[in-house]
Amino acid sequence: MTKQNKAFKFRLYPNNEQEKQFAKTFGCVRFVYNKMLAERKETYEKFKDNKEILKKQKFPTPAKYKKEFSFLKEVDSLALANAQINLQKAYKNFFEGRAEFPKFKIEDLNMQGMSQALHFGKSVHDNGWGMFTTFLEYKLKEQGKQLIKIDKWFPSTKKCSCCGKEQDMPLSERVYKCSCGLVLDRDHNSAINIKNEGLRLLTLA
Ligand SMILES: [Zn+2]
Repeated sequence: MTKQNKAFKFRLYPNNEQEKQFAKTFGCVRFVYNKMLAERKETYEKFKDNKEILKKQKFPTPAKYKKEFSFLKEVDSLALANAQINLQKAYKNFFEGRAEFPKFKIEDLNMQGMSQALHFGKSVHDNGWGMFTTFLEYKLKEQGKQLIKIDKWFPSTKKCSCCGKEQDMPLSERVYKCSCGLVLDRDHNSAINIKNEGLRLLTLA
């Protein structure tokens, strides 16, 4: 007898409530995936020169994080368990030489680049970000508001919020000074640019 595999495709039409739950679940899955990956990476770096010891290391499960991050209890634990299975597969592929080291599910902001550039170390790309935007988005939706995401390459820091001219702004430069006469705290200048860009995108939508 020949074995046959059948596949079915479904299109889901969730209501508002379900949509929120999905967004939350995806956010939590990504959160847990990144957390587990960060720990694996650390363990790997520590023991990579001794494969025997490395093999014996125990890796964390989603349950570990539920104590610390109680919002994880609000989503289906099978979804979180799947994050673990996927990571395990990716890690195994790497370990057996079939793939690169698993990557973080990474994010609108170039978190890794940012943390490297600012010498923040692990703490910044430690991931809370994706979770944060997911939650923020649906909290805003509840209030009839909208989250607008600005392109990560938008030059909010370099741009003059008054005349639009651009200039390099090394991190040490705390005040934005433009030939048009603008003198403003760099973050304040950048915040105005972000606000204007957000309004511009909103009118396009
Ligand atoms: Zn200017």
